[in-house]
Amino acid sequence: MATVVELPLETYKGPVDPDWCPGCGDFGVLRALQRAAGKLGIHHKDLMVVSGIGCSSNLPGYIHAYGFHGLHGRALAQATGMKLGNHDLHVVITGGDGDGYGIGIQHFIHSMRRNIDLTYIVMDNEIYGLTTGQASPTTERGEWTKSTPGGCPEDELNPLALAMVAGATYIARGSSAEQEHLTNLIAQGIQHKGFSLIDVFSPCVTYNKHNTHQWFKERVYKLEETDYEPTDYERALVKVREWGDQIPIGVCYQTSRPTYEDGEPALKKGPLVRHNLGLTPEQRRALLQEFM
Ligand code: SF4
Repeated sequence: MATVVELPLETYKGPVDPDWCPGCGDFGVLRALQRAAGKLGIHHKDLMVVSGIGCSSNLPGYIHAYGFHGLHGRALAQATGMKLGNHDLHVVITGGDGDGYGIGIQHFIHSMRRNIDLTYIVMDNEIYGLTTGQASPTTERGEWTKSTPGGCPEDELNPLALAMVAGATYIARGSSAEQEHLTNLIAQGIQHKGFSLIDVFSPCVTYNKHNTHQWFKERVYKLEETDYEPTDYERALVKVREWGDQIPIGVCYQTSRPTYEDGEPALKKGPLVRHNLGLTPEQRRALLQEFM
């Protein structure tokens, strides 16, 4: 087994500083991802960070790694292409609840069903932040938002429960305020072979005055500090629905089954990017010119 050489946080410092509002939970998620990558000793060239649209989706611009800032709700589809193009890459997707659980929900479900080896970090603030405070799929029933002035009239989506039935093989919940804990959850998610979901409480201090840092602090407890075992599917189905005065964070469920890549014959000879296509240098140049 290769020895892991940990890398310092500065390794992943991006070319520009985040322009998130002071106090936004996303700062803590960025830092935890940088720390997790450093802890695993992942070189820049082996890390790809992909996002859709939203405040949190600006994250690839703030980390020193390969990055792709794509279309609203399409980050998982784009990340799937990247993973299949080079399955040696660690592909991490970062985005918000509106982007992933609303606009991109079809990609969310099918990526989990396929168990493609991706790490999906959702900065869940229960609101659309970039568009200035409309209800998102995780906004709770009755909540006042700009788009629901009479209170949100529909039930919220439980992304962890959906992940359980759709087939994700690593399902965790973290809090941006719990740095050490979140770093470990992300590191485990990256190491996990298969689809990993890490839903992170990442408060929007500007537009969500209900689910604040304090609100979460008063409620969250760590599963690792209880006798909970994340390998029991039936127990996990109950645990992911726990909500109210007590909200669990930690690894809710982890299992193992073949990934999409395992079953794809075209990948048996190694990453597609290293396959010999039999092209001459001129043909390669012409193709690059056509598509780049
Ligand atoms: Fe963060 Fe909300 Fe500000 Fe967006 S609007 S940067 S989510 S605090």
